[in-house]
Amino acid sequence: MAPRVAARLKAGLVTGAVALPDTSNGFVVRKSVFSGKAFAYVSITSAVKVISLNPNSFHITQTEGTAKVTPLNVTAEEGKIKITAINKVSGEVPLTEAEIVVSGGRGLKGPENWTILENLAHALHAATACSRPVADAHWRPHHEHVGQTGIQIAPDLYVAIGISGAIQHLAGVNRSKVIVVINKDAEAPFFKAADYGIVGDVFDVVPKLTEEVKKFKGV
Ligand SMILES: Cc1cc2nc3c(=O)[nH]c(=O)nc-3n(C[C@H](O)[C@H](O)[C@H](O)COP(=O)(O)OP(=O)(O)OC[C@H]3O[C@@H](n4cnc5c(N)ncnc54)[C@H](O)[C@@H]3O)c2cc1C
Repeated sequence: MAPRVAARLKAGLVTGAVALPDTSNGFVVRKSVFSGKAFAYVSITSAVKVISLNPNSFHITQTEGTAKVTPLNVTAEEGKIKITAINKVSGEVPLTEAEIVVSGGRGLKGPENWTILENLAHALHAATACSRPVADAHWRPHHEHVGQTGIQIAPDLYVAIGISGAIQHLAGVNRSKVIVVINKDAEAPFFKAADYGIVGDVFDVVPKLTEEVKKFKGV
């Protein structure tokens, strides 16, 4: 929608902004590029500017705002897109909004083992996610697939369980503030991107971690 709005308004556009614009010298917006591997600083010179944000790039802070809200009465024309189905996910923490995400890969061996991941997610009040092969194999629903070709997230904490850390997976999660990796292979590439790592068998480590989280939270 942002490019269409920008085109109609003859406005400069920056998508995927990750910081507030720097107005000290012109109007410069920082955005993430190359699947989160680098930043670009883009200067917008048009009078009207359109910026779209990456989800979770900013924390919500309450300020003494002075913005005026003006009601706008518009009647939207019926679009050319036809909605054929609406699938609502209820009772779970939405992935893009979640502060904590617990994610599983092929190291979990099969869908029947997801309970150990879900128990940890429940204890942490976290959303659940997965790697692409897991969704492709229908172990988990596709809306949980994170990465270059899936959902891109930036939670405060990302816990990766039995995920190798392929570049395409990292592209969707490397903006997480803290990354914890649990993998039995000490050479797994994910450890290079991790803030904390546990080398061990997920079937041994994850239940113990869940117990410790519960003890810590007193539940
Ligand atoms: C064009 C393209 C786009 C892609 N897009 C995505 C994407 O968006 N998202 C994505 O995730 N992938 C994507 N991929 C696939 C990606 O390259 C990897 O193949 C995928 O991420 C690997 O998934 P995985 O880590 O679950 O499985 P694996 O690579 O099989 O890794 C499993 C890991 O589990 C560990 N393990 C095994 N057993 C245990 C155990 N008992 N305890 C602890 N650890 C254990 C292993 O050491 C290993 O590191 C894409 C690939 C291509 C080519």
